Amino acid sequence: MQVPQDNFMTFVDRMSHALDQPVGARSATGTLRELVRSAADAVHVAQVQAEAASLRLSVLAEAGRLLSGPLGWEEAVAAVAQLAVGGFADWCAVDFLDEHGALRRLTARHAHVERSPCTGCLEAFTPERVRPSAITEVVRTGCPLLVTGLGVPGARALAPEAGGGEAGGSFLVVPLAARHHTLGAMSFVRGPEREPFGEAERILTEDLASRVGLAIDHARLLRESRAAEAESRRHAARLRILVEVDRLLAQAGLELPAVLDVIAHKVSEVIGDGCVLQLIREEDSTLEPVALHHPEPEARWLLASTVHARRQRSGEGLHGGVVLGGHSVLLPDIDAEAARASEGLTEYVPYLERYGAQSLLVVPLRAQGRVVGTLGVVRDVAGGSRPYTEEDRLLLQSLGERAALAIVGARLYGAATEAVRLRDDFLSVAGHELKTPLCALRLQIQMLARLTRGEAAAPDVAERVAKAERASERLGVLVDELLDVGRISSGRLLLEREELDLAQLTREVLGRMSEAFSRSGSEVRFLTDGVPTGRWDRMRLEQVLVNLLSNAVKYGRGQPVEVRVEDGGAKGVRLVVKDHGIGIAPEDRVRIFERFERAVQDQRYQGLGLGLWITREIVDAHGGSIQVHGAPGEGSTFTVTLPRG
Ligand code: ADP
Repeated sequence: MQVPQDNFMTFVDRMSHALDQPVGARSATGTLRELVRSAADAVHVAQVQAEAASLRLSVLAEAGRLLSGPLGWEEAVAAVAQLAVGGFADWCAVDFLDEHGALRRLTARHAHVERSPCTGCLEAFTPERVRPSAITEVVRTGCPLLVTGLGVPGARALAPEAGGGEAGGSFLVVPLAARHHTLGAMSFVRGPEREPFGEAERILTEDLASRVGLAIDHARLLRESRAAEAESRRHAARLRILVEVDRLLAQAGLELPAVLDVIAHKVSEVIGDGCVLQLIREEDSTLEPVALHHPEPEARWLLASTVHARRQRSGEGLHGGVVLGGHSVLLPDIDAEAARASEGLTEYVPYLERYGAQSLLVVPLRAQGRVVGTLGVVRDVAGGSRPYTEEDRLLLQSLGERAALAIVGARLYGAATEAVRLRDDFLSVAGHELKTPLCALRLQIQMLARLTRGEAAAPDVAERVAKAERASERLGVLVDELLDVGRISSGRLLLEREELDLAQLTREVLGRMSEAFSRSGSEVRFLTDGVPTGRWDRMRLEQVLVNLLSNAVKYGRGQPVEVRVEDGGAKGVRLVVKDHGIGIAPEDRVRIFERFERAVQDQRYQGLGLGLWITREIVDAHGGSIQVHGAPGEGSTFTVTLPRG
């Protein structure tokens, strides 16, 4: 055992001082007795200090073991407090600042519970930052504080935490700190029967507090990182669901029933259990259930009869309330009794009576700033499922936003398709109605033309009849185009293929159109090479040629027109019609192949905008392609490529 240096020096000083005294000035016995007493004192002090050091070491080692062991951090810190009261203190309390900055008591321990009338008040005490005390002072300053002579009114006022019932105790408060932040404080109390805390205890408790502070800090960091991890996992899961729903909605396309079905099934699957989608009817502003799903057939049936029990208007019932308020409603746990008592939920009573308490969540379907319906889910709480949470509400809202957009898109598409269908129906009927009288008219005009050619009629009669013949021909073409709209739209464009020479066919059509070309002033140059043959539909290819050539006449400004039929080898046969007329702007080159699309405003150029659409449909039906090149003012070149069939 080592004698501490300062005590040893005092002992040596006193001994040499005694030996320096002249013999006879003092009795030798007295001097020796004094020396022995001093030596005994020094040994005692050394023993006490050694014991304190060993206690300190063992307390710190045990505290380290507890704090790094398997206990949760609160339990470990409480065990450390217990360790302190088992050794150098009678009371020990640990207080920490919570996430709101309020001091919370984690634990308070007493060595002799039965002897302390104040243990109860110590345990119950929750120190507040606003009420000044030794603990709040230490938390504020981050410096330790020692109060001795407890029981003296001033000390009591400073340290009410210690109870202050016993006179003469001492109170030591040290900060819990980590990463330059004070996280709380650790307080120790020694009763009056024990020596007050001294420097050694201050060092020990500060050491202890720094370990506890680190443990609390670690626990917090761990908790925060786990929370962040859980949050990011939840985000990822939510994102996955949304991406999946987007994918399914994209697959469902623009057909409203398919879109509604996807929404009801997917929402039922990911948020469960039952899902009800209601849309506001334009006619009477009531909510109409349009899609519903529940994995259990019986529950599905009962849910359907629940939502069909009464058509809700805005403001009526659960769904009507969501429409009016525009806010989601979350009823985490509702049973039949509660539903009976609540006016807006009575239709749910049979369902709740059959299946017990349920969790209900309804969100508005909002698109383009207005509520178009509601999306509701119901989950079987009585059956053991957890009630809906805010997390579910957020997810359902996101799904609702996507659902609303998809529904509005599908509705618009449905309305547009319906309008197009009505138009096509009308055109088809009109075409058929016009066809018969037009045929009769054309026959009469043709007869008239023959008569005027044979007899000497008035000079301008033949010319007028010829004009009427041409006009009736044009009318015939228009009526045929109208009839083709119906045929092609309903998929009735059937090809009758036969072996054809495209060069030969082009020559024939050019021959029939020679008058039109010469009237327009356009000179035609026809070039061909190879053997441009294949199996195609004669009538339909004639239509392609007539459409392209009559456009070259119409839009060619009387400039020369070049027609080429080329053998494209493995690619098939190519037909090129090139004019030097008004040309086509790049932005119009795609849309002119659509129905009723035209790129000219000028009244001189008459037409329905159907010729190129019909041409493209015929070429497509043959498995070929059509393209246009050229620039405004420089003419256009249409190229048709046809496989040989
Ligand atoms: P229509 O000629 O009856 O308008 P088409 O479907 O045949 O209908 O043509 C669609 C549009 O394409 C025309 O309105 C015109 O704007 C443009 N177009 C077609 N052929 C030519 C061409 N050879 N030169 C310039 N524009 C053309």
